[in-house]
Amino acid sequence: MKYGRTFNFSAGPAMMPEPVLEEIRDEMMNYRGSGMCVMEMSHRSKVYQQIIDEAEQDLRDLMNIPDNYKVLFIQGGATLQFSMIPMNLMKNGKAVYIETGAWSSKAIKEAKKVGEVIVAASSKDKNFTYVPDCSNLDIPEDADYVYICENETIHGVTWDMLPNTKGHILVSDQSSMFLSKPCNVSDYGLIYAGVQKNVGPAGMVVVIIREDLIRDDLENLPIYLQYKTHADNGSMYNTPNCWAIYCCGKVFKYLKKLGGLKEMQRINEDKAKVFYDFLDSSKMFRGTVEPRFRSLMNIPFVTESAELDAQVVAATKAAGYDNLKGHKSVGGLRASIYNAMPKEGVEALVKFLRQYEEEHK
Ligand SMILES: *Cc1c(COP(=O)(O)O)cnc(C)c1O
Repeated sequence: MKYGRTFNFSAGPAMMPEPVLEEIRDEMMNYRGSGMCVMEMSHRSKVYQQIIDEAEQDLRDLMNIPDNYKVLFIQGGATLQFSMIPMNLMKNGKAVYIETGAWSSKAIKEAKKVGEVIVAASSKDKNFTYVPDCSNLDIPEDADYVYICENETIHGVTWDMLPNTKGHILVSDQSSMFLSKPCNVSDYGLIYAGVQKNVGPAGMVVVIIREDLIRDDLENLPIYLQYKTHADNGSMYNTPNCWAIYCCGKVFKYLKKLGGLKEMQRINEDKAKVFYDFLDSSKMFRGTVEPRFRSLMNIPFVTESAELDAQVVAATKAAGYDNLKGHKSVGGLRASIYNAMPKEGVEALVKFLRQYEEEHK
């Protein structure tokens, strides 16, 4: 790796594409003759308006976002969406949630503060190692939406097909898989993603929302919590996270140049296969998720004991592979291999683990 950088397997904030970081470096002191860094720029300036407009347009191009969807850049991370979604979308005060891991569980907890939550399916029985069958859910007619976390960052579980919502609006937390593969936006009412997992720096969420879901009868909701506020003001009701928008915009352009999301998916599948093939052939390490629901992005794995897990984590760190410790709620190890993790990073880690296994038989 250039610059003495490490292969960073963090679940987030995580690696960004090196060419993007280099471009940001080159523009740091004087953005394209403006005489200032983007961090120092008024969000009301012409030069900044162009940055945010291009970021939105490039994302629309990448995901083929239909015209009747708004793209919003909002602060408060993905976590604020756990509350904003029920506050804005619960008209009848009732929604269906699917519980597949830590992040959907957190969303459920917050939604319960706002209205009635029906957990129509859960994989808690097997410690969130699969996605339950959602082809024929019991969904009340007056449920306002069906909520999923499409890639559970901590448990490493991903959906291989969307739930049958029986005509209800689908809401998806795509934080840790956003832009990892093509996405048919019109299957959803609302998609959101905290950008620090698979796109850019922390502190911002992208919300893609169908226009008819943006309500104007929520005067009593704090103004910042209404999607309408952000939609009506081009994500600049107040000062947005200018820096994150700028960096994300660069990543959008980078992905377009790479060949778009289909190409990104090909790269990600190829990369993840290297790791899963290793896990499946190893006698020391095993993946924790049912193969059908394995994430392309977050790969939790374990040895036979917590003690050995800890030893392996320490050994990887000493060898220059960072952040492989599993989440404290799950234990074991976890390799997050987002869009920006090069295949060589995965190959190098696999080589190291294989050797470790060989030496510690
Ligand atoms: C990280 C993460 C969140 C929370 O993101 P913040 O930006 O830290 O609030 C929510 N959902 C998923 C799937 C995540 O991976």
